[in-house]
Amino acid sequence: MFEATPVCPPDSVFGIAAEYRKDPNPDKINLTVGMYQDESGKIPVMQAVHEVECLMAQERSSHVYLPIDGMSDYNGLIGKLILGDNHPVITDGRVATMQTPGGTGALRVAGDLLKKIYAVNTIWISNPTWGNHPQIYSAAQLDVKKYDYLDANGTGLDFDAVLKSLSTASSGDAILLHTVCHNPTGVDPSSEQWNQLLTLIKEKKLLPIFDFAYQGFGAGLDEDAKPIRDFCADGGEALICNSFSKNFNLYGERVGGLTVVASSKDSAAAVLSQVKMLARTSYSNPPSHGATIVSRVLFDSGLRTKWKQELDETRERISDLRKKFVAAIDTRIPSVDFSHISKQRGMFSYSGISAEHVDKLKNEHSVYMLRSGRINIAGINSHNLDQLCDAIAAVLG
Ligand code: PMP
Repeated sequence: MFEATPVCPPDSVFGIAAEYRKDPNPDKINLTVGMYQDESGKIPVMQAVHEVECLMAQERSSHVYLPIDGMSDYNGLIGKLILGDNHPVITDGRVATMQTPGGTGALRVAGDLLKKIYAVNTIWISNPTWGNHPQIYSAAQLDVKKYDYLDANGTGLDFDAVLKSLSTASSGDAILLHTVCHNPTGVDPSSEQWNQLLTLIKEKKLLPIFDFAYQGFGAGLDEDAKPIRDFCADGGEALICNSFSKNFNLYGERVGGLTVVASSKDSAAAVLSQVKMLARTSYSNPPSHGATIVSRVLFDSGLRTKWKQELDETRERISDLRKKFVAAIDTRIPSVDFSHISKQRGMFSYSGISAEHVDKLKNEHSVYMLRSGRINIAGINSHNLDQLCDAIAAVLG
């Protein structure tokens, strides 16, 4: 059976990361990874997370199974973190959350739910998008259609093109929205554009899936949730897939959630019963370590404040790195405009560097980025900034 198996090509992000690991150059620079790195290039354990982990080690609690939908305290906290304590969806109780293995787990269960329970056939996804999105929804047997996103330079939004692509969407189609810090581009709609987009989605009766993997990385925890809060305020139904991989630096612990916002409390509970069955037949129940940490941090006001402060510092550091990068490049090659980098948000940027130049940067300077030109801004630090900008100037200049 296995003899003639064709080899599946490696995942584009993980594949280039493997090439980086093999490079013997001690000064190699890695801008490919999807994780936050601090000034010393380490992926930090947040202080609040560390404090909870120390307590957990002392308590020596048993490693029991969680329920299919995970920890109820955690699920309750997610709804409030996303929607805000006093949002009408919360006060009316028309919401239900299921803990999932990361944001990816939530995205996949959402796809299965739409296909299997509601016979949805089509999902609209931005072009470009996070590489796993189209794969996840093809695997869930949905027809993946793409809406245009970027302008001709490939570094800013072409909002008219977004609206034009979506004009051909049909009632009942699903649409995947990056709630904040679009991955891979870092290009987000303005709040006026969000209003227009959400109105169009309502008029056309599309079902939004809000992918919320970067809450806190754009402008703040509440600010970043605004598109979801606005959309759901007057009765809108939605699915929200959130992840604590980035805003807690808990990548490997697989901590996420699928939140259903329905038109009534009873419908939210019914949808939850369906997603539980989908989870049961896939991974059975979610892992507990990361979710225990997140709920204990969010429950304790002191720890929550520490976490929020550290997240605020992370966001500010990334924004500062963007400015420093643009300034440092500008002194070397003023003829090339990189100002879009400081306008984009979050960990990732579409740099505008072509695939051919990306290859040169890798082969001649041991600088690794994705061939789309996507860079992880958090891979830059004060030690490698000059070396990086010299390399880019040598290749582009
Ligand atoms: N959505 C987007 C846009 C992402 O960038 C990521 C992670 N790279 C995810 C979802 C999935 O997050 P997780 O690692 O929690 O599965």
